[in-house]
Amino acid sequence: MAKQQFKAESKRLLELMINSIYSQREVFLRELISNASDAMDKMYYRSLTDENLTFNQEDYYIKLIPNKEDRTLQVIDTGIGMTKDELETNLGTIAKSGSFAFKNDTELKDGRDIIGQFGVGFYAAFMVADKVTVITKSVDSDQAYQWESTGTDGYTITPADKESVGTEIIVKMKENEEEDSFDTFLDEHQLQQIIKKYSDFIRYPIKMDVTKSKPKEEESEEYVDYVEEETINSMIPIWKKNKSELTEDDYTNFYQEKRYGFDKPLKSMHINVDGTVRYNAILFIPENAPFDYYSPEFEKGLELYSNGVLIMDKCADLLPDYFSFVKGMVDSEDLSLNISREMLQHDRQLKVIAKNMTKKIKTQLQHLLRDDREKYETFYQAFGRQLKFGVYNDFGANKETLQDLLMFYSSKEKKLVTLDEYVQRMPEDQSYIYYAAGESIDRIEKLPQTEMVADKGYEILYFTEEVDEFAIKMMREYKEKEFKSVSSGDLGLEDDTKDEADEEIQEENKALFTAMKEHLGDKVKDVRASKRLKSHPVCLTAEGEISLEMEKVINAMPN
Ligand code: ADP
Ligand code: MG
Repeated sequence: MAKQQFKAESKRLLELMINSIYSQREVFLRELISNASDAMDKMYYRSLTDENLTFNQEDYYIKLIPNKEDRTLQVIDTGIGMTKDELETNLGTIAKSGSFAFKNDTELKDGRDIIGQFGVGFYAAFMVADKVTVITKSVDSDQAYQWESTGTDGYTITPADKESVGTEIIVKMKENEEEDSFDTFLDEHQLQQIIKKYSDFIRYPIKMDVTKSKPKEEESEEYVDYVEEETINSMIPIWKKNKSELTEDDYTNFYQEKRYGFDKPLKSMHINVDGTVRYNAILFIPENAPFDYYSPEFEKGLELYSNGVLIMDKCADLLPDYFSFVKGMVDSEDLSLNISREMLQHDRQLKVIAKNMTKKIKTQLQHLLRDDREKYETFYQAFGRQLKFGVYNDFGANKETLQDLLMFYSSKEKKLVTLDEYVQRMPEDQSYIYYAAGESIDRIEKLPQTEMVADKGYEILYFTEEVDEFAIKMMREYKEKEFKSVSSGDLGLEDDTKDEADEEIQEENKALFTAMKEHLGDKVKDVRASKRLKSHPVCLTAEGEISLEMEKVINAMPN
C-alpha cells in the first residue's frame, strides 16, 4: 500500500515538537499511557448510553511489555480502539485531537477525565522510536487495522488481525548512539520508575511482568528468579495524597501531564480542607501568561471533580476574575455529580469553596512577595495587569485582597515597589503619593512635570500601562494617602501655591500669554506662568480629575 504523506504542516510541527516541546524523552510514555487511559474512559462513557455495553472495571487496564531483543516496548490497552477513519484523522494530522472533538460533542456531566486536549502527545513516541506501529480494533468495527510510521516521512494503514477491542502500540526504540541510550525504556526497573513518576495517579492499573527472586526452597540460601505481573501505579490521584509524600517535581509533572500549560508552574498549592465543606485542590500560578490571556478568547476556570470524577472542565465560578490566571483542579465529596443541572442547589457550597480558595491564593501571593521577591516580580510581569483590572472593576469588594499585591515602577528605586514600601519611606512633609503616567519609563523620566516633585526628594510612581491610572483613581488613596498626578494643576506642594509674586509675573507677561493662547486656540485652555519648571521652558498640566494620559485613553476608546 502506498505511503500516505503527513499533511505538510504536520510534518513541520512534528519536527518542531520532537525537538522542543518535551524537555525529557521519557514523557513519551506518559503520553501513550494517558491516551490509553482516555480510550478506556471513552468506553466508560459509551457504556452509559449503550445498553449493549457493560463496563466492568476489572476488564480495563494498561499493559506494558518491554522486549530487549527486539528493542520494542508494547503499550496495550483495552480501550475503545480506533476505526480506519479514526486512525487516519487522529494519527494522520497533528493537533487534530480526537479527544478534543470527543470532548466537544459529549456532555461531561457524569464521567471521567479525558486528559488529551492538544493532539500532539502521541507523536512524542518519535523522540525515542525508529518506528511506531499501532494495531487497533474499534468497538465500532469488526476489522482491526494497523498504522505504521517511521517518523516524518508518512504512514501506512493496513488491515490487521486482532481479536479483542483495544489498542496495542509497538514502539521500536532507536539504536543507542554514543551519547544517547534508549535502553532505559526497555528496562523493567527504569520503566517502573517512569510510571511512578508520571502516571501514578492514572485510574486504571498499569501492569507489567516484573522479575523477582525468592529462595529456591524454604530456608534455602539459594535464590531463583520468577516473573509476576504487577500493578505499578498506585491509582491514587495526587490531590488525595499527603502533601508530605509529594515533591515539587510531582506537582510540576501533574501540571504538564494535565496540560495546564506548556510552561512550568511558578508556584503550586496543595489545599486540603476538612471543614464544613470538604475539598482538595491543586492550584498553580503559571510562569507565563497564556498567549490569549489578555484577550476575550481566554476562558478562566478550574477542573471540578466530585469525589474523583470530573464533572466540569472549566468551572469559572471557582475563581474571581482578578485571579483568573490560576490553573488547576478542585475535588469535593460534597458536590453532586449532576452539578450542571442542579447548580443552584449546590451554589452555596461552591461559593464557600471559591471564597476559601481566593483567600488562600492571596496568602500565597503575599508570601511569595515577602519571601521570594524575584519570583513575585516574574509573576507580576505576567499577571499584574490582571490584578489592576481587578482593582478598577470592583475596588470596593477587592480592596483588601488586592491593594497590597500591586507594584509600580519607582523613580527612586528604579524597580517595582509596592504601595506599602512607598508610603513607609515617605518624608514627613509629603502628603501625597505622586505618580506620572506615560508610554514608557524613558518618556516619563523626560517629562518636565516630574522635575519639581523629584526635586523635593519625593518618590514618583511611573504608570506605563493604561489601566494603572484608572485603577488608582478607583482606589483614591492608600493608607490614607491620596494619589496625585505630577501633571495635575495643584501639586499640593507648599512652594507651588499661588502668591502675589505669581500674580505679578502673570500680569507682566499678559500680552505674551494672550498671544500664545490665541495662537494655540482650542488646543489649550489657558497659558500661565509656572514655578514648576526647572530645566524645561514649558509643560502641560491638567485641570481637575482626568490626567492627560487618561484623556488620551478615553479619547481612543470606541464610542
Ligand atoms: P490527544 O491525546 O491530546 O488527543 P494524542 O496525539 O495523544 O492527542 O492522540 C491523538 C488521538 O489519537 C487521540 O485523541 C485519540 O483519539 C487517538 N488515540 C491515541 N491513542 C489511542 C489509544 N490508545 N486508543 C484509542 N485512541 C487513541
Ligand atoms: Mg494524548
